[in-house]
Amino acid sequence: MTRRALAAASRLAPLAALLLLAAAGCAAPIQALDQRDTLVVQGGTFEVRFAEVDRHAQEAVQRAMQAVVPELARWGGLRSPVTVRVLPSHEALEVESHREGVGALKAYALFDVVLVQSPRTWGLPLLGPPQRELERLLLHELTHCVLFQQSAARREDVAAKAIAFWFREGMASDTAREASRYASLEDLARFYDDHPGVNPLSPDVELYRREHDVVYGAAHHAFTFLVRRYGEDAVRAMMASMRGGRTFAEAFQDVIGLTREAFESEFRRYVTLRGFRSGRLKAGPMTD
Ligand SMILES: [Zn+2]
Repeated sequence: MTRRALAAASRLAPLAALLLLAAAGCAAPIQALDQRDTLVVQGGTFEVRFAEVDRHAQEAVQRAMQAVVPELARWGGLRSPVTVRVLPSHEALEVESHREGVGALKAYALFDVVLVQSPRTWGLPLLGPPQRELERLLLHELTHCVLFQQSAARREDVAAKAIAFWFREGMASDTAREASRYASLEDLARFYDDHPGVNPLSPDVELYRREHDVVYGAAHHAFTFLVRRYGEDAVRAMMASMRGGRTFAEAFQDVIGLTREAFESEFRRYVTLRGFRSGRLKAGPMTD
């Protein structure tokens, strides 16, 4: 099936897209993940599912997890085992994650599942991606699992928490030290200057696709700003408050003492006034 046909299929509703894929004769982008292994490390238990063709690739995934799982303790760690599904193609990842048409997608996290495109297929056929890149990606995704598991008692309860996009992505980006991949604070200040009515902390689908670097950069810097002002304890307290039954908005107001919207305005003011240049905010540079 051609890329264009896949893109056309991806614009349809998921069921229609699957039917179209089936009609086009490529109904099985997902090979059976009939192999499994169990990884137990301090801080987590994982079941790794993979196709035989990815036996070697999944070993690299397991090594990366062993390296990064201890870092999750910063946010309280995992509360439930996680299944890691090593998918044999990018198309399989798009279908399983229901994120069709997102070419840059390499992985996707749910409450107790991480989907990862096999590093065998990342476009570096002989060597595969550097191990550090795999570690960064898995640390990002597993941080999402920690957030969901620390904020909701059950997988079914996560959506109702309505966790802000910038909090979710900023927490993962901060933990995986990804600032250099996205817009800097200066870039973000210019974006705010040029787009007075646009809030990159709550992007719609169009902004998310068009300004990927800006929305992830904004998420990263807003989360870092939150932590530097209110501390990591505040983040842990917010997750505990959500697990106790509150929504993200309620937990935010309770713990931080501001509405989420007031905080977002405060962050915007800080960025547009170039507060990051003065170093007035204690605890070092804001750009790491
Ligand atoms: Zn993410």
